[in-house]
Amino acid sequence: MRALLTFATFVILLASPDTSYGAGPGKIVWPKPIEILQGELIEVSVSGQEIAAVEGRLDKEKVVFFGDGASGFNAIIGADVDAKPASSKLRLTARTHTGTEINAEIPVTIKVKSFRQESFHVPPGFDRMTPESLTEIRREQAAFARVFAAPSAERLWEAPFIRPVPHEASASSFGLRRIINGKPRAPHSGTDLSSPAGTEVNATNHGKIVLAGNFFFAGGSVVLDHGGGLFTMYFHLSEIRVGEGTRVRKGDVLGLSGATGRVTGAHLHWGARLANARVDPLELLKKISNHRQLLPESTTPANEMEKKDGA
Ligand SMILES: [Zn+2]
Repeated sequence: MRALLTFATFVILLASPDTSYGAGPGKIVWPKPIEILQGELIEVSVSGQEIAAVEGRLDKEKVVFFGDGASGFNAIIGADVDAKPASSKLRLTARTHTGTEINAEIPVTIKVKSFRQESFHVPPGFDRMTPESLTEIRREQAAFARVFAAPSAERLWEAPFIRPVPHEASASSFGLRRIINGKPRAPHSGTDLSSPAGTEVNATNHGKIVLAGNFFFAGGSVVLDHGGGLFTMYFHLSEIRVGEGTRVRKGDVLGLSGATGRVTGAHLHWGARLANARVDPLELLKKISNHRQLLPESTTPANEMEKKDGA
């Protein structure tokens, strides 16, 4: 164990900024220590002339690296909206063209982000479900779990990501914590864009339609698999114009926004999931390199409110 710890320390030293492994053409540049806020994304890269492939793991989730065609390998890491603030390690293995494996551990710190909080009281039993509704909810949960369990290994997306609709985020947006009758509910896991009903909803990037259907909470829903563990979701659609199993290109129309499912007004719920972390989809616009597209903070007042946690 002691030998292992010593080795880990050695590797961390190597992984610190501007330090590289070995000398000459074999050097590898590892990522710097990572700090990430709840619901956010960060890009990391590993580079070196001799590297053929890079594999990564953060806790029990796989971190998928894609080569840039030169000597770099990039991945995106996300922290779940409800991730516990903690210190962890990104475990990396770089394999050279000659088959040598070189390992590194990069410290990862997950930090709390302050989200808006809403507290209100409703009559008891307001969300009591009929047996039919409960059956529908189970079907919905099973359908989503099935697609998230089988992500496409191939990277389908390319930078930049685009907005699915031009509208701003509403106040009931990503990470909102609701406390109902004193009891905290699950945080809102998507960004609600204030699109009027009938707005065309575009694919944020290339991908495969892995779910297209109508559900109790999410209403008319489309889920896109972009590969490497990244999914985006589009909920409450009034019309779906794509079928499961088909491929779409960035900008293709997936359907029309609406007010289906458990909502009180028309809007687009846009969600993103990376290696099972629920992240703010606006992060895809802000953090993916090459084409930075910084957005102004939303100033739109709350004009609708959903009753369902996370939808
Ligand atoms: Zn929503």
